[in-house]
Amino acid sequence: MRIGVPRESGEHETRVAATPATVVGLVELGATVVVEPGAGKRASFPDAAYTAAGAELGDPWGADVVLALGTPDAAHLDRMTPGATLVAMVGPARNPELLADLARRGLTVLAADAVPRISRAQSLDVLSSMANIAGYRAVVEAAHRFGRFFAGQVTAAGKVPPATVLVAGAGVAGLAAIGAATSLGAVVRATDPRPEVAEQVRSLGGEFLAVGTGDAGQESSDGYARATSADYDARAAELYTEQAADVDVVITTALIPGRPAPRLLTAADVARMKPGSVIVDMAAGQGGNVEGSVADEVVVTGNGVTIVGDTNLAARLPVQASQLYGTNLLNLLKLLVPARDGQMVLDLDDVVIRSMTVAHRGDVLWPPPPIPVS
Ligand code: NAD
Repeated sequence: MRIGVPRESGEHETRVAATPATVVGLVELGATVVVEPGAGKRASFPDAAYTAAGAELGDPWGADVVLALGTPDAAHLDRMTPGATLVAMVGPARNPELLADLARRGLTVLAADAVPRISRAQSLDVLSSMANIAGYRAVVEAAHRFGRFFAGQVTAAGKVPPATVLVAGAGVAGLAAIGAATSLGAVVRATDPRPEVAEQVRSLGGEFLAVGTGDAGQESSDGYARATSADYDARAAELYTEQAADVDVVITTALIPGRPAPRLLTAADVARMKPGSVIVDMAAGQGGNVEGSVADEVVVTGNGVTIVGDTNLAARLPVQASQLYGTNLLNLLKLLVPARDGQMVLDLDDVVIRSMTVAHRGDVLWPPPPIPVS
């Protein structure tokens, strides 16, 4: 089995789908690994480190399995062999036409971003890996744009109050943001429809703001969040309006897979914020949690609030992002090559493999059947 690792073609993409360390693991599975020259350069992994790990340098596109971050463009897909396997973040719920195209090409496609949220699959979960990094980086971006310390200080020239940070959505990214912001010394508050995260928020030094009682929404069989109820949204809107006038920094992380991001802060809420406040809308690429945020742009409102809409936060830490992504894919390959003999076995009776396989033998296999509750 030949595994190809291309240089990512996305303009702002700095990551790579395999690192020298994960190449060692792939070779141990019996694979020959072909890395495109320069594939790891932007993540500080030189070609020589890949060859030292056992890879060949060459054209990755003719391989049996191609490991990528983003979906390759048409020109690269044209170079793949029908019957070959592509592993990449294809966004299956958002991209039905892409899935049809991939199936037409006769490719087997495993969506790295469709890992079911069951314990056994945690080690493959690239969305969690990237959200963890992005949440940390969101705080770094906010601190960079904020004209004050995050920590309070008592100096000879007077007392400086700490910054107050609100984190909306306390999932993987939100918890990473809470950890980073408390480490910098800010006073951190957080909210989420899932009351069970309150303890995690507190354990990171944050205060949990509950949105009253009642039904917030439902958890799904695949573990991903579903839309919140209208009642919950109305109560949450009051909380955001009240908090907007009080906090210095807002980090929003609320996502519902396959749907536009829920709108949390309105333009009127943003208008209530103090001049110099900073918002990082981590959902800007999915329609935005904040009215007025623009994907991949920094907007400064009339009242002096900076809204950061970066969508490539994880790619700003390319070394660790590549290490974690690469390790997640190595764990996937361990499932796909159970005998470690270089032979891939696509076991569609395995719920993890079935959930991730979105195209196979000319058919679109998305959405997967619901996961039986064990
Ligand atoms: P996500 O990216 O889908 O959503 C981010 C957060 O936004 C979630 O906490 C969600 O509750 C929240 N959210 C949704 N609608 C909201 C709204 N209207 N207002 C405010 N917040 C809203 O989720 P995620 O961070 O990837 O994961 C969520 C949780 O799932 C994790 O904390 C973890 O407990 C669990 N998880 C389990 C596995 C596994 O078992 N394999 C893997 C990853 C995550």
